[in-house]
Formats: sequence, C-alpha cells, structure tokens
Amino acid sequence: MKILSGNEVSKVRRQKISEEVQQLKSKKGVHPGLAVVLVGEDPASQVYVRNKGKACEQVGIQSYEYKMSADTSANDLKLLIEKLNNDDRVHGILVQLPLPKHLNSDEVLSWINPRKDPDALTVENMGLCWKGIARVTPCTPSGVMKILEHYKISVEGKYAVVIGRSNIVGKPMAHLLQEANATVTICHSRTNNLQEYTQRADIVVVAAGKPLMLGREDFKSGAVVVDVGIHRIEVNGQSKLCGDVRFDELDGWVNAATPVPGGVGPMTITMLLENTLKLASL
Ligand code: NDP
Repeated sequence: MKILSGNEVSKVRRQKISEEVQQLKSKKGVHPGLAVVLVGEDPASQVYVRNKGKACEQVGIQSYEYKMSADTSANDLKLLIEKLNNDDRVHGILVQLPLPKHLNSDEVLSWINPRKDPDALTVENMGLCWKGIARVTPCTPSGVMKILEHYKISVEGKYAVVIGRSNIVGKPMAHLLQEANATVTICHSRTNNLQEYTQRADIVVVAAGKPLMLGREDFKSGAVVVDVGIHRIEVNGQSKLCGDVRFDELDGWVNAATPVPGGVGPMTITMLLENTLKLASL
C-alpha cells in the first residue's frame, strides 16, 4: 500500500510558496499577510491557530493574530473584520471555526470581503467555485486534490465516493472531484447501506467525523482511501490522533491511503498559505 503523505506533499509545495512569496515581495513590493481571528479559548482551535501562524512564518507570509474573548459581541467582531477588510497589509482573513454559540458563523463569514477569503467560505467564493471559475478553492478539499495529483493518482473516469456533505469539506470535495472528471456519489448520515457505495468506489474520501468508522471490509481491493477525519482518542490510557478510517487494516488490501496524522491535515494549512499568496498576488 502506498502511503499518501501530506507532510511530503506539503514540504514540496511550501518550498514553492516560499519562493513565490519572495518574488512577490521583490518584484511587486507586496508582502502577503494573513489575519487569523480566534474567538474564545477552545484548545483545539488554539492549536490550529498557532500552527497556522508558524506555517505562515515558515514561508514568509506575515501573520496577524487576533484573540477575542468567548463573550465577544457580534458587533465587536464585525468591527474587527471590517478593520481587516480595509487593512492593506492583510490579504486573507480567517475566522477560526467553530465560533461560540451566540455568534452565527454564516453571518460572520458574510462580513469578510470575498477578495480576502482564503478559506473560500463566503457565498461569493462558493458560487464562483461551483461555477468553475474559482478565485480560490476551499483548503481541505483542494489539499486532497493536490495529494492525488502529487502521487499521480488519476481521477478521470473513476468512481469516487465522498462521505460527508458539509460546506467546508464534503460538498466542495465532491465538486472538485467531478470537475476532475470523476463520477461522484455523496454519502451522509441518512445514506442507506453505506458499504454498498464504498465497496464499489475507486476513490473514497472519508469526512464523516466519526473516529475509526471504516476499515478494510468497507473498501474494494485496490481502492484509494483519503481520510479527512481527525480525532484525539484514548488508547490504553494514552492519548493519540486517529482518523475516520482504521488505517492499520488497510495494508495489503487498498492501493493507497492517507495516514492520520500526516495526511490531509498538513495539506489544509498548505492550501491556506497557497490561497493567501494567490489573493495577495491578485
Ligand atoms: P461535519 O460534522 O460538518 O460533517 C460530517 C458529515 O458526515 C455530515 O455530512 C454527516 O451527515 C456525515 N456523517 C456523519 N456520520 C455519518 C455516518 N455514520 N455515515 C455517513 N455519513 C456520516 O464535519 P466536517 O465536514 O467539518 O469535518 C469532517 C471531519 O473532518 C471531522 O473529523 C473534522 O475534524 C475533520 N476535518 C479535518 C480537516 C483536516 O484538515 N484534516 C479539516 C476539516 C475537517 P449529515 O449531513 O447527514 O449529518
């Protein structure tokens, strides 16, 4: 089984991003900047925000962090986003999700200038993406496509199954796969007999958010399995990361699979950097 290493692909792409950031700075005098807004103290979000900051630093993108308390009002958050929309140093604004319950994430995302939306989560960017004329495409699904590209896994004509239909992962994932000429089925929690779909698929992208949900028996021999899920679980009193797939069962059965950690996760951040650079150069 080939291990599809997001770490490996990220390394190659981040090197390229770093070179392009330098070029943009020296030729056009533009220093790409990403503002990350964190509301509240969710520990996982704090780690994600820290990692995004570090990744920016690594490739020469300026990162600006804004930490707001969990009880921040919608109005205060809106004022900050408007300030960032008007700040020429900032080319991408990322509001870390999930937000505290009193804030409506759809409303908050609508305040971001679509030209500064590296996550492609504003309605305008989603629409452009669905029309096939994307300014930038959503980070996690784009990261998956880049992994497949890097390992020369052809998508055209293949039968792909995506498990999950969220706006952030499942739906845009299915869209990008069909744009690359796969025949795609989206499965979700109300799908009857999930295995009937996954066992026929050449490519399965799992984004159900259920730890260790699928194993060897769910895939056909020779399939390609991409695991988007990421969870912290306890095993024999020790904390470890796992995905939606029981990765250890796959060797000798499927053709290729992404591990967790080190699969899709690092690519999501890499695509965030790539999208920020793209918005800065636009
Ligand atoms: P959501 O919870 O928004 O969506 C989960 C989707 O999976 C829903 O569409 C749901 O169906 C479907 N689902 C849930 N249970 C089942 C089941 N038993 N069978 C089939 N479908 C099921 O999650 P996200 O899309 O935001 O994220 C998915 C996972 O990916 C999470 O573990 C998340 O942490 C991870 N993630 C990882 C990233 C990375 O960089 N590696 C980035 C983003 C997310 P329904 O619509 O019917 O409820």
